[in-house]
Amino acid sequence: MSKWICFFLVFVEIQSLPGQRCAPYKPGPTYRSISTQDFKIQFRQKLQCRLIFHIFYSSAEEKLSAMQVYSQMEVLNRYFNNAVNAEDYNIPEAFRNLKANPNIEFCLADKDPVGNASIGIEWISISDLSIACKTEFGKRSLMHKNLGGVDLWDPKTYINIFVINRSQCPVLGEAIYPWDASSDEDGIILDYRSIGSIGTAHGNKPFHQGKTLVHEMGHFFGLFHLSGDQANCAGDDIVADTPLQGLEYFGCPKFPQVSCGQNSQFMNFMSLVDDACMHLFTIGQVNRMQEQIQLYRPEIGKMNCTMRLQDDLKQVIVRQNQLDWQLLSKSRGYFSCNLELYDMNGRLRWKQQFEEAVSVTISAELLDVNPGVYFLLVSNKEEKLCYKLILVQ
Ligand SMILES: [Zn+2]
Repeated sequence: MSKWICFFLVFVEIQSLPGQRCAPYKPGPTYRSISTQDFKIQFRQKLQCRLIFHIFYSSAEEKLSAMQVYSQMEVLNRYFNNAVNAEDYNIPEAFRNLKANPNIEFCLADKDPVGNASIGIEWISISDLSIACKTEFGKRSLMHKNLGGVDLWDPKTYINIFVINRSQCPVLGEAIYPWDASSDEDGIILDYRSIGSIGTAHGNKPFHQGKTLVHEMGHFFGLFHLSGDQANCAGDDIVADTPLQGLEYFGCPKFPQVSCGQNSQFMNFMSLVDDACMHLFTIGQVNRMQEQIQLYRPEIGKMNCTMRLQDDLKQVIVRQNQLDWQLLSKSRGYFSCNLELYDMNGRLRWKQQFEEAVSVTISAELLDVNPGVYFLLVSNKEEKLCYKLILVQ
């Protein structure tokens, strides 16, 4: 059985090759049975995980900026470490009360495996892109220095993210299930155009909002696709509050869609819909992730995300990147703030709270407002700062 999970690189391919999206899923002895516990979130301490991004590049474009990686970190934390999101209204009412906060925080590694200071990102120049999805001697080249890649940072305590141009590969992203991980092969591999929401991800629709890594992280923590990768309602994801699905959904379906006699939860992060259309992990999925982590990756969530939390919002820069705005901490420290967007008539058009973000990306698409002039109010307990944003067509 293959342990590789994926997003298709090109939407058209998804439509024409649905059967090749992912490897068939065959449940092993490693999953628990469905229990009523799924409907109650089990209180647990927040987990903190550190990430190392190994960025392989053979051109200037593929050498992603640190800023782009920060924008990915913001997206990960937005969905794994945030109880309320501005997008929640997109979740149909039938499923809204199932949405759960995984309570998992991610930060970039501040030390390498031998204790040297690190920024959690390393760039590796390569000349041969074929290692992106090559295996030699039964090993993934990318994860082995002697095969042209790099060796893992201890996968017990680091989550290894490999970024490379995967235009020659059948799928966009891959993750190793917890029970398939080994000391020399573990982590997640992603195409360089689906990291975060700026730079090479900007305009890379429909995978332009950094949610490929949210989906793959779900696999990395033991979640399956809702269909269980089997047709005709024969498969299941071993989670009780995600309805059975006899197929996978792509694109951006309109609610409701019915499969196996039930309303499908196609807007789940473990679905295969577009980035703009996936919005929740359920209580059952969060419980399953937490259990799988305890079982297979017991050390991974015990890292200290030590970056300093800064209260001074003046240390936060607001900058425009084409149609997106970014709030970035000058010192790479975390900041917490409330954001409110007002139009020229003083009407509140959007608001969201951010806890311990390194960067926050506000995309024009997320705001769902017309071109024009807006005012962004950034505040915390101590300060209120106002920025004028101009949205052009
Ligand atoms: Zn997948």
